[in-house]
Amino acid sequence: MQLFFVDSFKGRVLFEVEMRDYTSLKIGGPAEVMAFPEDAADLKELLKFAYSKKFPVFVLGGGTNLLVREGGIKGIVINMDANFKEVSWQETGEGTTKVTAGSGLTLAALSKEAAGRGLTGLEFACGIPGMLGGGIVMNAGAYGSELSDIVEMIEVVDRKGKKGIVAKNDIGFGYRSSKLAEGLIVTRVHFVLKSGDRQEIKTTMDDFKARRMAKGPIKFPNAGSIFKNPEGHNAGRLIEEVGFKGKQVGGALVSEAHANYIVNSGEATAIEVLSLMAQIRDAVFSKNGIVLEPEIKVIGEDAGL
Ligand SMILES: Cc1cc2nc3c(=O)[nH]c(=O)nc-3n(C[C@H](O)[C@H](O)[C@H](O)COP(=O)(O)OP(=O)(O)OC[C@H]3O[C@@H](n4cnc5c(N)ncnc54)[C@H](O)[C@@H]3O)c2cc1C
Repeated sequence: MQLFFVDSFKGRVLFEVEMRDYTSLKIGGPAEVMAFPEDAADLKELLKFAYSKKFPVFVLGGGTNLLVREGGIKGIVINMDANFKEVSWQETGEGTTKVTAGSGLTLAALSKEAAGRGLTGLEFACGIPGMLGGGIVMNAGAYGSELSDIVEMIEVVDRKGKKGIVAKNDIGFGYRSSKLAEGLIVTRVHFVLKSGDRQEIKTTMDDFKARRMAKGPIKFPNAGSIFKNPEGHNAGRLIEEVGFKGKQVGGALVSEAHANYIVNSGEATAIEVLSLMAQIRDAVFSKNGIVLEPEIKVIGEDAGL
């Protein structure tokens, strides 16, 4: 792809970047271009440029919920991880605080800062490794709470570079999903937290962390839960029941610690992960008639295309 970046773009631009270096699974071929906008104005310029040239774009957060195929990603990967980290905390005087946070902040860092300020509502996010923007798209959650519980609205930029606001009800939050219109990039999130008891907040977070640790260490690169929990069922238990714990296809391995985690035990490829996922789905469907739906997003081109 021939690229002529607008002079006004302030951020870094890299070419032929291996996506395995930007995903927690450590799998994935090259992105033709990776651009790191410095702020919303920079993002606008980049999007206007990409739109005018008809370049496809993909938005990357922390890469903790992605499986990228070996053929990599055509067009421009917009990396939101490096910037968009500003945050403001505004007490309302009614026992709540309005938070406006950049989409490049990690959920874990936000959760920690909220706890330090004696604010309750984000304890569940203390062990989720992604960014706030990715968290909105995924409606990230744990232990019975999710981002949709606290979000009021989000600031976005569309594919033509136009800024806008989307109210909570129009985000279309569901279980580990949202119906954010294709092409909207989250730049800031507005949410509300309540004043709470510092010690209680700490105890809750310590409990959540201990519960994650209790599953045992996940030694290898992974993307968290591979499948969503089907209504009324636990995906990990269903996978365990069909005997897939420890099963391996090439370097892709069903974790011994957590059956709903597929880990990259070495040089796993996307095809190996997808093949293992297909085997799991078939086995669970044959035994229980339940269709497992992937939680991870699978993107990119097949190798050789
Ligand atoms: C060890 C481990 C544990 C995990 N535990 C949990 C858990 O308990 N609960 C849970 O919900 N998830 C969990 N996850 C999954 C993951 O952390 C979450 O889904 C997280 O919200 C993804 O955020 P991300 O920034 O990494 O997004 P990415 O993986 O980079 O992207 C995910 C999707 O969001 C889109 N996206 C990212 N940023 C933006 C943006 N700014 N604007 C528009 N679209 C964007 C991407 O295009 C993609 O479609 C876990 C993952 C790991 C590795």
